[in-house]
Amino acid sequence: MSKVLYEKDIQKEVLQAKKIAVVGYGSQGHAHALNLRESGYDVVVGLRPGKSQQKAEEDGFDVVPVAEAVTKADVVMVLLPDEHQTVVYEESIKPHLEPGNAIAFAHGFNVHFSQIVPPRDVDVFLVAPKGPGHLVRRTFEDGGGVPSLYGVFQDVTGNAKELALAYAQGIGSARAGVLETSFQEETETDLFGEQAVLCGGLTSLVKAGFETLTDAGYQPEVAYFECLHEMKLIVDLMYEGGLENVRYSISDTAQWGDFVSGKRVVNDETKARMKEILRDVQSGEFAKGWILENQANRPQFNAINAKENNHPIEQVGRELRELMPFVKQPLQGKQNDEQK
Ligand code: NDP
Ligand code: MG
Ligand code: MG
Repeated sequence: MSKVLYEKDIQKEVLQAKKIAVVGYGSQGHAHALNLRESGYDVVVGLRPGKSQQKAEEDGFDVVPVAEAVTKADVVMVLLPDEHQTVVYEESIKPHLEPGNAIAFAHGFNVHFSQIVPPRDVDVFLVAPKGPGHLVRRTFEDGGGVPSLYGVFQDVTGNAKELALAYAQGIGSARAGVLETSFQEETETDLFGEQAVLCGGLTSLVKAGFETLTDAGYQPEVAYFECLHEMKLIVDLMYEGGLENVRYSISDTAQWGDFVSGKRVVNDETKARMKEILRDVQSGEFAKGWILENQANRPQFNAINAKENNHPIEQVGRELRELMPFVKQPLQGKQNDEQK
C-alpha cells in the first residue's frame, strides 16, 4: 500500500520563511488563501480587478495584480481556471519568476499537456485537493481536511517535495491524508474520474434512470426523488463507510437488487467504454478537443449546457427544491458564474 502522510510526517519550516502568492480567488483560491493564512503562512493574493478581488479584500488579504503578486512571492500557486492559465502565465507570471522560486498547481493539466512549460530554474509541484474548494474551506473550519495528492515535476532547490508537503499541510490536507503522485497520474486519473464516474458517469446514470421511469408513464416528481434526491443519502453512507455501509443501511431487498441488477447496468460493455475514455485521456485526444473548444469560444460547450439545463429532470427538480428550502446551499466559492 502507498504511504499516506499526516501532520506528524510534515515539516512546516521550509514554507514558513516564504511568501505565497495565491493567484485566483475562486473555488480553490479562497480556500487555499484562508486556510494557509490561518495555518500561519504569509499570503498575498494575485487577481485582476473584479468580483473575486473585492471578496479577497473583504477577507482582509493584500490583493494586487498577478504580476505584482508573483514578484513579491517565493511560491506561486496558480488557481485560475485551467483554460485561462496559459495566457495569464505567459503575460503575468513567467516574466516575474526568479530562479529558485516555486510555481505550483492544483491540477496537472497544463504542465502535463505542455500548455505551460515552466522555466528550468524554478521548482514545480502540485497539491491537488480531492474535493471542491468550498469543502476544502468548510472541513478546515470544522477541524478536518480534504485529502490531497502532491507531486513534484521539477526540483531545482532540493526542497520541492518538502514545500509541497508543507503547502498541503497548510490547507488542512494533512489532517485527512496526503499521498504522493506524479503530474501524469494526477492529470489522467482526475480527468478519467470526472468523466467516467463522478460527473459524466453519475449525471448520465441519473438522467437515464429518470427517463426510463417517466417514459414508462410514472410521475416526474416520483422519478426525481427516486433517481436524484436519494442519491445524496446513498453517497453520504458511501463516504462514511464504503459500499459495505450502504448495504448495511439499505433493506435486504434493495441489497439483493443491487447484487442482481447493478451489473446489468454497468457491465463489460460499460467498462470497455471506460477504457476508451481512459485511452483518450492518456493520448491527449481529450485535452486537444478541450483546448480547441476553448479557442473557438466554446460553441459546443454552450450549446450542450443550454440543452442540459432544460432537461425535464432539471425543470421538475427546480420546482421541488423550491418546496424544500432546507436542501438549498449556495454554491460557495464559485463566483465567476458567467463561466458556469
Ligand atoms: P474558479 O473558476 O472557481 O476560480 C477562478 C479564479 O480565477 C477566480 O477568482 C477568477 O477571478 C480568477 N481569474 C479568472 N481569470 C483570470 C484572469 N485572467 N486573471 C486573473 N484572475 C483570473 O477556479 P477553480 O478554483 O475551480 O480552479 C482553480 C484550479 O484548481 C484549476 O487548476 C482546477 O483544475 C483546480 N481544482 C479545482 C477543483 C474544484 O473543486 N473547483 C478541485 C481540484 C482542483 P474573477 O472573479 O476575476 O473572474
Ligand atoms: Mg478535475
Ligand atoms: Mg427504495
